[in-house]
Amino acid sequence: MNEIFNIRNSFEYLLDPDEELEILNDFASKKEERQEGYFEYLGSDYWQELRQKRLEQDNYECARCGSKRCLQVHHHFYRNRYQTQLSDLITLCESCHESEHR
Ligand SMILES: [Zn+2]
Ligand SMILES: [Zn+2]
Repeated sequence: MNEIFNIRNSFEYLLDPDEELEILNDFASKKEERQEGYFEYLGSDYWQELRQKRLEQDNYECARCGSKRCLQVHHHFYRNRYQTQLSDLITLCESCHESEHR
């Protein structure tokens, strides 16, 4: 239970590396408006609720290896930010997430 509490309250898990990458790309192309909107999305109840549901449905386990540590929610499909579906997301541990982006 404590572990789940920690996952929920750790700011580290707010950002999917995909999203950090997109923010960096936005910096590079100076699309400041888009970037600002992205922080808003990541801080939104919409995103927080979705990623929380994904984690719950995946039993707080990595969908690839079953690890319960360093969980992140990865977008395997992107649509418009506020139209993201639960099925667009997958719970992965940090190392499976990394290999997903390789
Ligand atoms: Zn894993
Ligand atoms: Zn990802």
